[in-house]
Amino acid sequence: MRKLVGTLSAAMMAAAAVVCVPWPASAYNLNCGKFDGPNPTITYRFFDVGPGWENAFNQAQYRWDVVHVPGRFVPTSSSDPMIEVRDGSYADDFWARTSWTCPILPWQTNWIGNEVKQKYNTRTTGSLSAENKKYVAIHELGHAYGLAHESMTCSSGPAVMEQGSEKFHCAGLPPWQDDQNGVIDKY
Ligand SMILES: [Zn+2]
Repeated sequence: MRKLVGTLSAAMMAAAAVVCVPWPASAYNLNCGKFDGPNPTITYRFFDVGPGWENAFNQAQYRWDVVHVPGRFVPTSSSDPMIEVRDGSYADDFWARTSWTCPILPWQTNWIGNEVKQKYNTRTTGSLSAENKKYVAIHELGHAYGLAHESMTCSSGPAVMEQGSEKFHCAGLPPWQDDQNGVIDKY
């Protein structure tokens, strides 16, 4: 997705010319859905999550909360949280997975049920540091917001929505500006 920056040329006021240029920092991609509302209170609940992933998730939601994007993550004891969080030893190769149901009708924008589910795979992530796990959880919360994967290098502009381990080595802390721009665009 590209943001377009309009500039009005003084020399062409009569024609009201608008020059559109791509903004290279806006490489984010959006997924099919989002949570309800422009600034949602996003409830989450752990279901039998071990201390390693619970800690990673808590640090990840804190990171999203301290940057200036819509939405705020809050724990709930409700049986129907907006993010259902689990960990376990899963046979598939993924580190973590967020699943959702896309809106169906053309005018709908929200996840069906206004909820997503997350699984963190203890089988494949045993060698990841606590810091790496935090990055993985920040990535998964990006999916929960409605962000999709993107390609990046640290030098081209870091993004936590990169799928892989390159992002572990980028300077600064995620979610980076590109990730934040994606959420701001979405909400
Ligand atoms: Zn992903």
